[in-house]
Amino acid sequence: MHVIVLGAGLAGVSTAYYLAALGARVTVVERQGDVGLGASFGNAAQLSYSYTDSLATPAFLRRIPRLLTNHDPATQVRLDPGVIGWGLRFLMNCSTRRATRNTLTMLDTALRSAELLESLRAEVDIDFSHRRAGKLVLVSEPDDVPKAQQLTAIKQKHGCDIEVLTPSEACAVEPAVEALTEPFAAAVYSKSDEVADSFLFLKGLRRHLEASGQVDFAFGESVSRLVRDNGRVAGIAGDEERRADAVVVCAGAWSGRLLSDVGIRANLYPVRGYSVTMRPGESAPSASITSLKHRIAISRIGSRLRVAGFADFRGFDTSRDSKRIADLLLAGKRLAPAVADYEGEASEWGGFRPMTPDGLPLVGGTRVPGLYLNTGHGMLGWTLACATGEAAASAVMGGQQ
Ligand SMILES: Cc1cc2nc3c(=O)[nH]c(=O)nc-3n(C[C@H](O)[C@H](O)[C@H](O)COP(=O)(O)OP(=O)(O)OC[C@H]3O[C@@H](n4cnc5c(N)ncnc54)[C@H](O)[C@@H]3O)c2cc1C
Repeated sequence: MHVIVLGAGLAGVSTAYYLAALGARVTVVERQGDVGLGASFGNAAQLSYSYTDSLATPAFLRRIPRLLTNHDPATQVRLDPGVIGWGLRFLMNCSTRRATRNTLTMLDTALRSAELLESLRAEVDIDFSHRRAGKLVLVSEPDDVPKAQQLTAIKQKHGCDIEVLTPSEACAVEPAVEALTEPFAAAVYSKSDEVADSFLFLKGLRRHLEASGQVDFAFGESVSRLVRDNGRVAGIAGDEERRADAVVVCAGAWSGRLLSDVGIRANLYPVRGYSVTMRPGESAPSASITSLKHRIAISRIGSRLRVAGFADFRGFDTSRDSKRIADLLLAGKRLAPAVADYEGEASEWGGFRPMTPDGLPLVGGTRVPGLYLNTGHGMLGWTLACATGEAAASAVMGGQQ
């Protein structure tokens, strides 16, 4: 069986890995010159197995007036038909019932991903600055603590290693928290969550797959359409036409355009986020730290310190990147002035998260024979990569539509 995987980000390369493990011959087609140059490059590096909380929640509804008037520093919205249509579906997911269901569905997938990444690490030797760092999510408002405790109790029942700490307990776990400038009411701590560089992971996995002889990478090829033959998807076309027994679309935030041509509505919105990678400062944390209020994450990746975050809804517009990266740096400096060497050398980055309205990825067969999906991982594509790659590969090899 020959399978084309479209896109060489976390979704595409992990799908290729599990397809090869099931005996398929795979061609990964990618318009860039290497793996991992889309959203999978400079993300916050958190393997956030325990913190899979839905973005769509009742609490989010309270933020809407500030968002729509662009008074929330972490989010900019440009109102266009795309964001309105997507936003209405997102709002339908803001009830407590749906938010809990979506969070727990993601949690099950994330816990499966943790197991799979451990097996993958045992099989493939890749140095990707992987570390069981632990993760602290700061809860700013005292009113939000009971909700955090409630959800934590539910997650513990799902087998999750997670607890709610008081500020002093959080400081004992991660002394760098003491150097933060803003008080917080509690911290959700997941000891077994990890940090790792997804770009280095993908580079290493690429080398392994190429050496296996089962997977080829076709870089520098932009795909403009899916090829249909007798009602089934039989390949891809762009710079070149290629045929295969099945095609898996893993084109991240760009998947929607290709899919709508064959009548599949994916409901993906490109949500832009940013990161700045610097030298660590004198109070660089060992655990990764997320501030829900500021929508930023701080992660130590090997010898570097990354501040990442924000969620802008402005279509594929990148014209404000320098301003937004400056905003992100300012937010980082204000909250955590000693975690990084803010005045030193820094590498700046922006990426588009492929977001679905319910936050759940689209994985598996479609109603079009021969066409499979692994996209829409939103905020958690690194965390979910192994589990969704495995699920997509199993669907293809099992012929499930
Ligand atoms: C600021 C930020 C922080 C984040 N932090 C985290 C985190 O800490 N933990 C976590 O789990 N997740 C995080 N994420 C999310 C995660 O990075 C993404 O969900 C994930 O990278 C998506 O992977 P992907 O393979 O679907 O997309 P991408 O990595 O974007 O890959 C898609 C690929 O398809 C290619 N492609 C698209 N269209 C075509 C075409 N027509 N022809 C050929 N090639 C094409 C693109 O060039 C690209 O290489 C973060 C994201 C951002 C932006």
